[in-house]
Amino acid sequence: MAQATRIDGKAKAAELSAAITAESAKLLKEHGLIPGLAVVIIGDDPASQVYVRNKKRTAEACGFYSVQHSLPADVTEADLLQLIDDLNRDIAVHGILVQLPLPGHLDEQRITQSISPTKDVDGFHYINIGKLTASKTDDAFVPCTPAGCMLMIQDQLGRDLSGKSAVVIGRSNIVGKPMASLLLAANATVTITHSRTKDLPAVCRGADIVVAAVGRANMVKGNWIKPGAVIIDVGINRIEVGGDSKSKLTGDVDYDEALQVASALTPVPGGVGPMTIVMLMSNTLRAAKLAAGIR
Ligand code: NAD
Repeated sequence: MAQATRIDGKAKAAELSAAITAESAKLLKEHGLIPGLAVVIIGDDPASQVYVRNKKRTAEACGFYSVQHSLPADVTEADLLQLIDDLNRDIAVHGILVQLPLPGHLDEQRITQSISPTKDVDGFHYINIGKLTASKTDDAFVPCTPAGCMLMIQDQLGRDLSGKSAVVIGRSNIVGKPMASLLLAANATVTITHSRTKDLPAVCRGADIVVAAVGRANMVKGNWIKPGAVIIDVGINRIEVGGDSKSKLTGDVDYDEALQVASALTPVPGGVGPMTIVMLMSNTLRAAKLAAGIR
């Protein structure tokens, strides 16, 4: 069997980003509208700082108004809720994102649920989760990572996944569950698996589509994969290579093994990651158009 296609998330993200930039320029020209994204970051977690910097840079490259609020790690919940309330009312801001994880004294649910559902570009508000679960995908803000995965799957298999069997590994609210809802809305037959699933390799072997969102380096082996399956690797794991405390990023899927069995798979890095950021831009653009009543 031929080697699998490497799904180039970076190239696809660049393509989408160019389309979003063009649409943003058109909005400005025809409606005087500039999509606005506010990112709130609390504390100084280095990984979060990198993510937030990338989001700000991408938003600006798309022609958006981009504002960042950096709050100290000991900010009170009341002050954070006040800021979110101000952003909910700010007409220049169409999308609000609070970078997770939050310091332990802040209630993640209370914070994410305080963002207006119409500005919830991360798709974490219960209203948006409800719409997605009800398969109202056109009406919901869908969490960015699964939305990006779905585009890559549909590039390979078409929009309608009728008759396809999909296995999602991981049941988080951010990736696994919304991913399963999206696959189901596209008519796939979906199995959600997790740390308590019995004989995960056997479950995976029945799947035409596998989405791995676990956080365990190289867990999904070649012999877990049905020949010809499409494999989407969401995992981001840093592993040591050789001595000198050198490290590299790797996914949840054993890439070299999967390449011999699958029909297509995403690499790590360069697969799901770049798509996640561009879907945030897509959601922000959509929020701006909705706010202005533009179809
Ligand atoms: P999480 O820790 O919230 O959830 C992990 C899930 O994996 C849980 O549901 C758990 O039940 C399951 N799991 C744990 N061990 C397992 C095992 N041995 N077998 C089967 N299932 C097991 O993580 P998350 O937020 O969903 O993220 C998952 C991975 O995806 C992480 O590596 C994270 O860094 C990465 N991620 C990447 C992006 C991106 O843009 N590329 C975005 C979000 C998350």
